[in-house]
Amino acid sequence: MNDKSVRLRFAPSPTGYLHVGGLRTALYNYFYAKKLKGKLILRIEDTDQNRLVNNAEHNLIDMLAWAGIKFDEGPHIGGAFGPYRQSDRLSIYKDFYIELIKKNHAYPCFYSKKRLQHLEDSTLSPEDATIEDSIFKNFNINTIWEQMENQNFVVRLKIPKNQKLLHKDLIKGSVHFDLNLINDPIIIKSDGFPTYHFANVIDDHLMEITHIIRGDEWLPSIPKHIVLYKAFNWAIPQFGHLPLLLNSDKTKLSKRKNDVSVASYIEKGYTREAMINFLSLLGWHEKGDREIYSLTELIQAFSFERVNKSGAVFDIQKLNTFNSYYI
Ligand code: GLU
Repeated sequence: MNDKSVRLRFAPSPTGYLHVGGLRTALYNYFYAKKLKGKLILRIEDTDQNRLVNNAEHNLIDMLAWAGIKFDEGPHIGGAFGPYRQSDRLSIYKDFYIELIKKNHAYPCFYSKKRLQHLEDSTLSPEDATIEDSIFKNFNINTIWEQMENQNFVVRLKIPKNQKLLHKDLIKGSVHFDLNLINDPIIIKSDGFPTYHFANVIDDHLMEITHIIRGDEWLPSIPKHIVLYKAFNWAIPQFGHLPLLLNSDKTKLSKRKNDVSVASYIEKGYTREAMINFLSLLGWHEKGDREIYSLTELIQAFSFERVNKSGAVFDIQKLNTFNSYYI
């Protein structure tokens, strides 16, 4: 790999059909990777098996292909690069949590029958569960491995106490976090699967991702992710968190008030050019009032400096205007 080349990824979870906000995230990643002649990877984050939606992965891949987004690496499927899938990579994560336990950055919590029942009945809140689990923090490194062979466990990451964290986001600027307000998150579940936070960070590191561009809703995960990078002593990539898409009443864009799947807009006859042009301008614009861009022009013009910090209204009238223009 050329040291200077940028590497980006789009990392959806197959928990539903591709959302218009997801397509915008994929587009911004694509524009930046193309502009800097770097690479873009597709990674399916499917470690939460309970939330998988039938056919969602298929839909994600079809919609991205419809939009003309091509990936530059990954397993071959029919002449194109397919996605990396976390459920195909499960054997990778074990060595990493063992390393964290050895370095005293993580600890296994053993579950009694009563405790498992509590969790199943949902009578134990995540906060109470973390507090209860803190008794496992001071473990004996010599006996822990045998205990892990014989008992049901989850693994939690130790969030350092009495520390503040300053995160410099490509889009949001400086964001401060107080680590005392963050619970020790579970990184390995009792079924042995890694949680989103763990698999996400390990894969971004192994895939040598230089820029992580994703939705605003992931900003609160930043402290956990940075603690993980530091625990492994890994270089921290650049992060950019994109503004939310909003309904006209400024609430978060939701299924109740709007169609949110890309597929539903294709069904209604919206063209690819109109969708791409419209979505790209939701939260990004150049200086001046230019509105019409082809995909190639977007690649040339795009920059993170011109992405807004605050939410962008999904204005259907405007999408209709773009659609009429392109038809
Ligand atoms: N898997 C996450 C999602 O479904 C994406 C997280 C990320 O991009 O880091 O949105």
